[in-house]
Amino acid sequence: MASSDIAALKAAWLRICERLKDEVGDVEYRMWIQRITLGALDEDEITLYLPERFLRDWVRAQYGQRLQSLWREESSSVQHVELKIDKKIQRINEQTHRAVERQVEVASTATIGEMAHDDAVALEHDELPAFASNIEMRNDLSVPLDRRFTFDNFVVGKPNEFAYACAGRVADHPASPGFNPLFLYGGVGLGKTHLMHAIGLKLMSRGNISVAYMSAEKFMYRFIASMQSKSQMEFKEQLRSVDVLMIDDLQFLIGKNSTQEEFFHTFNALVDAGRQIIVSADKSPSDLSGLEDRLRTRLGCGMVADIHATTFELRISILEAKAKASGTPVPPKVLEYLAHKITTNVRELEGALNRLIAHADLVGRPVTLESTQDVLKDMLKAHERRVTIDEIQRKVVEHFNIRLTDMSSARRARAVARPRQIAMYLAKQLTSRSLPEIGRKFGNRDHTTVMHAVNRVAELMEQDPGLAESVELLKHMLES
Ligand code: ADP
Ligand code: MG
Repeated sequence: MASSDIAALKAAWLRICERLKDEVGDVEYRMWIQRITLGALDEDEITLYLPERFLRDWVRAQYGQRLQSLWREESSSVQHVELKIDKKIQRINEQTHRAVERQVEVASTATIGEMAHDDAVALEHDELPAFASNIEMRNDLSVPLDRRFTFDNFVVGKPNEFAYACAGRVADHPASPGFNPLFLYGGVGLGKTHLMHAIGLKLMSRGNISVAYMSAEKFMYRFIASMQSKSQMEFKEQLRSVDVLMIDDLQFLIGKNSTQEEFFHTFNALVDAGRQIIVSADKSPSDLSGLEDRLRTRLGCGMVADIHATTFELRISILEAKAKASGTPVPPKVLEYLAHKITTNVRELEGALNRLIAHADLVGRPVTLESTQDVLKDMLKAHERRVTIDEIQRKVVEHFNIRLTDMSSARRARAVARPRQIAMYLAKQLTSRSLPEIGRKFGNRDHTTVMHAVNRVAELMEQDPGLAESVELLKHMLES
């Protein structure tokens, strides 16, 4: 295959991954799609690899159809998608998933993903590392912690200050009464994993304490693998010998009863022995229906801390911190724009910023609002939503500090007439309303008045960069 074909294939795969990520969400994406490695195109069949039969079967059952149709959409030369198993191929296409993860330095994510299954299949009795009572990190049990996920790098604001404080407290005084277990919950990409790693890193920096961190998914893999290889006792002993056990994304255990059972026993044994347990999930213990009642009850017994959705202020602070750390200057307008546009998930916010910075470095030009719109076009499309004329009027009125009634009044003073024209222009641009419909919303004005306003604003935007920028900013705020 020519290198240009390979590049095209990789680009297509990247787009497919991005779409799937949007469709299935972060958790599922990481769990399944991220395990897929792109193989080659042979005639009209594309091969995708997974490192294990279990994963392959699952992906085939859950996503086989979708993968096929996405590939067909991408390229007319692909008709079939073949899913195969290959343990060694895993690394080859990591870049794709890195790009999708949109992180500058994702080695750890990849490792986490990989270890989750590699370890599970490799867990043969005699392969287990020698047992040492005071090793810092339980390498045999834990996945490596991401060195970037420190308390220092965590930006604190109203939505996360409580969780942050609890995490800090547990890192300083593990297993203190009232804080065991520590249960962190919140939506995707709001910093649960970051805080858990921060706790682990801080504890380890003091040494002489054994910390095991793993996802609930990995817990399950390990548990199942230990049964298959008849090394359950070792697994149990290992688990019960750590000082601090962290299980991330516990919601994964919903419906997996025997794994829950195992976790429950481990949990009890550790808490009884005065060890610290830290758990994260996407919901509070009481809302995690599908978990056994006794487990839920125990999970809620310590400290339950939620991380709320980010506020605009927090998003700005996070962006400022990350932009500063990158060393590349990013104009405040761009940060505001991003914080308005990407509101759900810090990971995406971070990814968007990283993309901008990488792009600016690559082409050797500074980051601007224009380059931002261009570079993030596809990504921002997903965040677009329908705008109403009422919303437009409200935003414009707010921006120019005039009254809502001025939108429909007959006043012709420039201070109100211009904003009114801008609102009409935006209504034309951002909604599918016709000119007469728009006119009606603006005090029953004639459609020719609307047309005039639209043309006039377009003209002014060319002459007056200041005005153009205001209009653009309003537009972006409305679209976010
Ligand atoms: P979760 O586990 O809740 O899904 P993560 O902890 O993986 O979310 O966070 C997603 C990304 O966003 C990580 O790169 C993390 O460093 C970053 N992040 C989240 N919240 C913050 C914050 N308050 N300050 C700095 N970075 C954050
Ligand atoms: Mg997480």
